[in-house]
Amino acid sequence: MLDLVRYARADKELNAQKLVGPKSTICACCQHMPATATVGDTTLCPTCLPAFALDASGIDHVASLIWLPQLEQGVLSRLVLTLHVTCARQSVTVRTAATGEAGIAAMNFELLKRRETALVNRIGTAKISEFREACKELKIDPVQRAHFVNGIRVLHHGCWFGDAPQLYDNYLRALIGGVPF
Ligand SMILES: [Zn+2]
Repeated sequence: MLDLVRYARADKELNAQKLVGPKSTICACCQHMPATATVGDTTLCPTCLPAFALDASGIDHVASLIWLPQLEQGVLSRLVLTLHVTCARQSVTVRTAATGEAGIAAMNFELLKRRETALVNRIGTAKISEFREACKELKIDPVQRAHFVNGIRVLHHGCWFGDAPQLYDNYLRALIGGVPF
């Protein structure tokens, strides 16, 4: 299970590299989708990548932090991918969907996004760009830690970084069309 606080405290740059390896490599986080990138030694699909590439430029546009101890990061990624695919099937996003199944998906996404507030109350931010700095400030007894910070998850907004803004839309369309990405 990913301990995001311990991970964020690591003394190294956390940026993504394109996957070099077999296309059949599976994401180490969700254990479900094919990996397309790596952060360090961790192979990642596009939905799980923001939970690991914490130093990526423009990360706050792509994802945010929420408090959700009930679901591990990989399970949340699977759920969120389903919400994004449901919207993409109606040619909308979780930000624009209003009717039908996509509307329900958008409503569920909004409920997850509201969990940002619970995290701000705990560590003072829901921005990934501020997270590593915030983690250094946290002084928590190891026993208390499980209850205090082990519920931090990364919520993918269904968009992508500025250098390739269409990438995630293309990914969703490829999934819907059954085309290898
Ligand atoms: Zn994944």
